[in-house]
Amino acid sequence: MAKHISVKGVVQGVGFRPFVYGLATRLNLHGWVCNTSGGVEIVVQGPTSNIENFIHDLKTEAPPLAKIDDVTEYDELSSIEYSSFDIRPSTSVEAAFQPISADVAICPDCERELFDPRDRRYLYPFINCTNCGPRFTIIQDIPYDRPNTTMAEFLMCEHCGTEYNNPLDRRFHAQPIACPQCGPFVALRDIHPQFSGINSKISSIECRTSAILKARKLLCEGYIVGVKGLGGFHLACDASNSLSVEELRDRKGRLAKPFALMAADIDVVRSICQLSSEEEALLTSREKPIVLLAKKPHNERAYKISKWVAPNLDYLGIMLPYTPLHHLLLNQTDPLLGVEPVPPLLVMTSGNYSEEPIATDDEDALSRLAPLADAFLIHNRQIHIRCDDSVVRVDHGRLTIDHESDEMLHRPSSVVYLRRSRGYAPYPVKLPFEVKPTLAVGGELKNTFCLTRDRYAFLSHHIGDMENAETYESFEQGIKHLSHIFRVEPELIACDLHPNYFSTQYAQKLDAPRLGVQHHHAHIVSCMADNGLDDRRLIGLSFDGTGYGTDGAIWGGEVLLASFADFERFAHLEYLPLPGGDAAIRSPWRIAAGYAHALAIEIDELPFLRNADPQALNILRQQIDKKINSPLTSSMGRLFDAVASLIGLRNEVTYEAQAAIEMEGLAKPFVTVAQPYPYEITNGNNIGLKSLLQSIVEDVRLKKSTEIISARFHRTIADIAVNSCERACQASGLKEVALSGGVWQNQVLLDLVRDGLLKNGFVVYFHRQVPTNDGGLSLGQAIIANYALGVQELAPASTAGK
Ligand SMILES: [Zn+2]
Ligand SMILES: [Zn+2]
Repeated sequence: MAKHISVKGVVQGVGFRPFVYGLATRLNLHGWVCNTSGGVEIVVQGPTSNIENFIHDLKTEAPPLAKIDDVTEYDELSSIEYSSFDIRPSTSVEAAFQPISADVAICPDCERELFDPRDRRYLYPFINCTNCGPRFTIIQDIPYDRPNTTMAEFLMCEHCGTEYNNPLDRRFHAQPIACPQCGPFVALRDIHPQFSGINSKISSIECRTSAILKARKLLCEGYIVGVKGLGGFHLACDASNSLSVEELRDRKGRLAKPFALMAADIDVVRSICQLSSEEEALLTSREKPIVLLAKKPHNERAYKISKWVAPNLDYLGIMLPYTPLHHLLLNQTDPLLGVEPVPPLLVMTSGNYSEEPIATDDEDALSRLAPLADAFLIHNRQIHIRCDDSVVRVDHGRLTIDHESDEMLHRPSSVVYLRRSRGYAPYPVKLPFEVKPTLAVGGELKNTFCLTRDRYAFLSHHIGDMENAETYESFEQGIKHLSHIFRVEPELIACDLHPNYFSTQYAQKLDAPRLGVQHHHAHIVSCMADNGLDDRRLIGLSFDGTGYGTDGAIWGGEVLLASFADFERFAHLEYLPLPGGDAAIRSPWRIAAGYAHALAIEIDELPFLRNADPQALNILRQQIDKKINSPLTSSMGRLFDAVASLIGLRNEVTYEAQAAIEMEGLAKPFVTVAQPYPYEITNGNNIGLKSLLQSIVEDVRLKKSTEIISARFHRTIADIAVNSCERACQASGLKEVALSGGVWQNQVLLDLVRDGLLKNGFVVYFHRQVPTNDGGLSLGQAIIANYALGVQELAPASTAGK
């Protein structure tokens, strides 16, 4: 008996062929296994029961990094008798493609060798194996073989070659295989003359270790060191040293946005943060993302952290070392490295100026970042595509009451992706339907793009905020690279409706049928696809900061009835003026004053206006009365900003959603006991805000605490959300609700609304694989283009919805 088996999915560069080889040999089967550009092909010959076992084990015992999408078996027709089982050379199949692996953090086996003085890769910063190491960031083309990676320039030494060619070695066909004799090396480049004496050209082992020792010394002394990592440069400094952290903020031009930390090990994390088992599993997972964790109340045994790391926040973003180089930088136990002790907690922030993309290339980093760092720890393995660290949070499970049965239901914990990039990109989102080759270019902030084909949606790594030239360049480069790798020649293009987005302008230059997709529609459809739903109509609560509406206003507090191809705007927050337009986004006091003026709410003598310039306030009011540069908005994000200012929390913000994030922290302890404020249902189903804002102003006058007002405000928004769904359900009969948009990063609000909806018998969908913020937008755009353009006459450009 003989079978031919085709395996599709992430099955290359993950030790799949050696696994197949071992399995076939163990079961006494003959035949062969081979990589093609479409996946892995296998022929097995032998007793039927052994072949059955083989197919069973193939699916259940695959190596850790493999992600099998499909296994197809055929009867093998050829009558060739095989006398052994062989691994055949890779073959290429025209137009075939297959998903490629993300970058993988160093595995426990390699970590053990890294710190074993008897191992030939002792302290070697580029140690890796079939189960770990760089993938996505070094791949230039498929099939994934060494000549198609940035490792091509390093000729394997004899020792590495033997490991690479031995199917029983754990480095069999590990494409980035390297050792101190043949692989890349690190060097320390100093920017400032006081660190002279280090020669970056020297490559002996002693010199390499000395580069790391020197970097550790500099970190310990409070200097800022640029470190070349997997997907780009980081800027590192001692997280306990306030002078260093402040200096880094100064140099980066980043006033308050929290910095990520890298901790030497999990015990360091545990001493400063509360850590659930799910959070620990994420921190130590092979993806090694930045995990947002609740700070522990101050205690004596905890490691010291400068207050400048995450000002005014009750959580920290922490990751563990994920490359061998990080381990060498942070290790606390190795005797040789211990010569230069290093702080166990480092700030590890992307090597860029605020809002610019992370630097990847040495020349770029050394010139662009020179003013930011005192020295650079660099290496000569090229980064082909940049990839920022991913940021995730655990959405903790809880008990909820099932409406139908009155039973207590357990909602399991899940992962919330705030930024889906290193370790996760470019794994595809699998779709329950076929789509055309499509490019969706995403939005303006937190940009990602999305390429689709067959039943796959390949969501890109994090690109960033499109307003600067470097990000735009990296966006263009990313699209070119991924469409080549995945062999996607777009037949459809999707972009945002906003005419001034750089991504929209890029899309307009492409020669394929194009659809401008309404921002909040895209959010809801992204959530549907993320949950594996097929086309249907449901209620969408699309809450975020800014999105271009079909009427030209700035939307953001939207209750939609949406399907893939179309949507209806069922209700929204009432339109209020945004004096100064985009400029108001950084100055919540302008929004607060503007809203109050438009609603005729008396705010004079409120504390937040104590330092306001009376003339600026006058001009603002005139702007609104005369409708000069005061676009109308229904934004939920702006409502949070306005309230944060009214209650005296902050009048200016320096990063996106800062006011809302701080207000969420204040509300958290009181939200279960707080009562909602009143609000109105105005013209049709829209949500009037006068009595809400009026009540908040009264509470401020009564000197109620900001915590209580914030908690009551959160409850009000939750009430608005749940009641809107009830009205939408009465009007449409729909009982399913999708939540999407940046506002749902607010865990307090998310919990209140989900519980409220579940108690009222709604089925609730929230994001599971992609961000709820604009980082997930392109997925929705791609699906909408397929459905809206699929049924309409194809036009050069048209708009979905009304
Ligand atoms: Zn390994
Ligand atoms: Zn070697």
